[in-house]
Amino acid sequence: MSMIRTTSLLVVFTFAATVGCGEGDITEGVTAREESAGHRAHASTDRASASSLIWNIGPGDRRLKGPGAAPAAVPAGPVLSASDLVNTSPMNTLALYDTTGEWGVLGELYAMGAVNLASHFGSWTAKAATTYTCGELATYDAMIYIGSSYDEPLPACLLDDILASSHPVLWAFYNVWQLANRSPTFGATYGWTPGVLDFSSIAEVDYKGHALARSAANGGGILGTNITDTTKATVLALAKRADGTTLPWAIRSGNLTYVGDIPFTYMTEEDRYLAFADLLFDALAPTTPERHRVVLRLEDINPSDDPAQIQAVAEYLDAQGIPYGFGVIAEYHDPAGYYNDGTPEHFRLDQRPALVATIQYMLGHGGVMVMHGFTHQWDKDINPYTRVTGDDDEFFRVTENLDHTLNYVGPLPGDSLSSAGKRMDNAKTDFAHAHLVAPTIFELPHYAGSVNTYRAAATRFAARWERALYFPGLLRGAAPNYTWIFGQLFPYPVRDVYGTRVFPEDLGNIEPEPFHIFPARFPADIVNAAEKNLVVRDGVAGFYFHCFFDIQYLKDTVDGLRSLGYTFASPNEL
Ligand SMILES: [Zn+2]
Repeated sequence: MSMIRTTSLLVVFTFAATVGCGEGDITEGVTAREESAGHRAHASTDRASASSLIWNIGPGDRRLKGPGAAPAAVPAGPVLSASDLVNTSPMNTLALYDTTGEWGVLGELYAMGAVNLASHFGSWTAKAATTYTCGELATYDAMIYIGSSYDEPLPACLLDDILASSHPVLWAFYNVWQLANRSPTFGATYGWTPGVLDFSSIAEVDYKGHALARSAANGGGILGTNITDTTKATVLALAKRADGTTLPWAIRSGNLTYVGDIPFTYMTEEDRYLAFADLLFDALAPTTPERHRVVLRLEDINPSDDPAQIQAVAEYLDAQGIPYGFGVIAEYHDPAGYYNDGTPEHFRLDQRPALVATIQYMLGHGGVMVMHGFTHQWDKDINPYTRVTGDDDEFFRVTENLDHTLNYVGPLPGDSLSSAGKRMDNAKTDFAHAHLVAPTIFELPHYAGSVNTYRAAATRFAARWERALYFPGLLRGAAPNYTWIFGQLFPYPVRDVYGTRVFPEDLGNIEPEPFHIFPARFPADIVNAAEKNLVVRDGVAGFYFHCFFDIQYLKDTVDGLRSLGYTFASPNEL
């Protein structure tokens, strides 16, 4: 999968696109007017949200470096704090990040990844490591540091405070040699010493009996460790080289947990990132009992849909006692008549009474409605496929290359907090006209939006339900830098750096046919990813399904997830 063809996007993450519902038979009860729009066959173009890969590059990954956007050190910026997902949690995490050197811009992105996860457990404060105030570690319950700039000048008192602290410290990748060098007794105390960077091709990390994936394209290396006293240092996870030999991926000694990798790079659904997400429980909620829940979302329901297939899925889920969410797009726009022989089409929810009746049925039988955009496209231009609802991006400019790779260009022209909010408000008006209570959960079309989009959603919705994009500047209080994008999926609910609760979708979706750069994805793939997710001791996995596909795919997925021990949860329970 090579999807890095852009000249400006250095950190690319790709969610495949969502396919708009619509193929299928017209059934009794559908009005003639609905019938005219009932045969949308754009399954091949809208592959939205999540199918497969998230790529976040690592420091030193020059192969992926585009011209004209040379990374650099960044100002340290202010301190940013945020409250937790559950305001009753007393846990407070300090996250420190690197800012210096050629790859200084990456540190803030990795810190966002860390604090997004830490928000599940409590509140957090993020700041540049160089601005650490002596003694402040003692005022936090735990600390996370992702070393991403080689030889970042860490304050000596930070090292001293860590060596003296009994609070959990989670340290990843670079600069742990500074900690070891600070104390002449480090090796004797902790039972291990830092080794050298191992640049072997490592595509597997074994954790808690599960083989997790690590991208073989990751050229950043893993920092080796020499364990000198196994009574003090415990190996938590092993990285496996292509030749079958192993080296520690994560070790713990006392309050210090060390991960020899940046767990956010090249993230996928089955990734060793899940191990890191689980390690946070040891630091922040060690008594958490084992529990495995999954949330399902039906996707891309819009006013062009044949309600019969949706109704059939809803009745199956009701019979199974499965609560679920369903994403609804308020308006259907095909401004160029792409699917209508050149004649533009435009439908609102209130023009589709049979569909609204199905939505009412779902709301009464375990379904929770999610707003999945106002139109899920951009009227002014192809973005990136057809200009049609369900196919295209609504809140971010995306273009397609001749080889079908995508460029995440940046905000759309005219992007602003108010313009993004107006589209959400317009959608709410459409729901009201259809006599539907507007959803309190939002899902960005194709999981892509500007900072203004996320901030507009934060003031209008109780939660988002998706994977999300983050940009340098958010923690440092600077204008967002759209030449870098950090993508993240979540294996449990969080409150992310935009200040919104985010429900998980981390398993992907059913796609029977490959589409350009996006591979096919079947129930077995969803179930396989869910098996990896079992390493997260109190995880919430999430996936989604398009109603126009054969319902047997959904049934097979449900059966597979249940056989792994998952129980279905409503988004209202999260
Ligand atoms: Zn969609």
